[in-house]
Amino acid sequence: MSHENGRVSASEETAEFKATISRRQFLQRVGIVAGLVVVGAIPAVLTSPETLPSADGAESGAPTLASKINPLQHIIDQDQPVNYPGKPVWYADPAGNQKWAMVIDVKACVGCRKCVYACVKENNIGRNSGFTYIKVLEMEPGSVDLETSNANYTEGGSPDKWYLPVQCMHCAKPTCVYGCPVKATWKEPDGIVLIDYNKCIACRNCIVTCPYAARHFNWVDPEVPKAEINPKVPLQQKSGVVEKCTFCVQRTRNGMTTACTEACPVGARKFGDLNDPNSDVSVLIRTRRAFRLKEDLGSGPMIWYVG
Ligand code: SF4
Ligand code: SF4
Repeated sequence: MSHENGRVSASEETAEFKATISRRQFLQRVGIVAGLVVVGAIPAVLTSPETLPSADGAESGAPTLASKINPLQHIIDQDQPVNYPGKPVWYADPAGNQKWAMVIDVKACVGCRKCVYACVKENNIGRNSGFTYIKVLEMEPGSVDLETSNANYTEGGSPDKWYLPVQCMHCAKPTCVYGCPVKATWKEPDGIVLIDYNKCIACRNCIVTCPYAARHFNWVDPEVPKAEINPKVPLQQKSGVVEKCTFCVQRTRNGMTTACTEACPVGARKFGDLNDPNSDVSVLIRTRRAFRLKEDLGSGPMIWYVG
């Protein structure tokens, strides 16, 4: 990967993401249209939640008491803290017993990027940084050929395209966390994967070990207009650290939804608690044809797509 002026370009980041996704399985399982595509080097990607083994090893299919109460219990059980420091760093402790997840409806998404802009503003992403935490990929109709997807389209809403937003998946098995030699990143009890910007030594191992190209290195001091700085987000003027989506921890631990979810004009994004069987996310995962990216890798992403 080259870094012109010390930065990774949007097209390079997109190419990195594309290189890691199998197209055939997405097509087949999302059921858009079969054909056309090439299977990538890394076996991949989308598996329905029903294919997950239960956390207690009940692969025989025998329902446990917990799963009778919450059919998604096996997913919740797999999502445990990793390298959690055991105390609040930057943000408040998890408010309760939540297990956060997101569902994105790719049929509803119109590619307007309002989620991207809201995220940039909410999270003090440098206007000069050359990356955003969310990317929206424009796809050709009847195809999920990521080789020809376009992250740099000018306007969304093309009736003959469809759109796939991608960002940090807050994986149950976060390979980024395993890749950090100084435990500067970890997974919290509510599932959110965070970074201590004071501990990050800029080795960028986590960028390499993330299968979703969801992490970004901040090469330059982020430029954020003074009037637009969000004081609730600690990353304001710091360069030389890795950044990514935090599921808007500063909001979601205070009873609000994520900025991207709030900004989406068509309600394509739902954020909520898997421990609540009646939450939007729980209901959608149970009742719609829901898929996760690259689930075959075993990373257990906590973002589902429905189509
Ligand atoms: S998507 Fe990447 S950065 Fe996010 S938790 Fe998974 S491995 Fe880590
Ligand atoms: S705001 Fe909603 S419709 Fe617009 S790109 Fe994001 S997810 Fe899609």
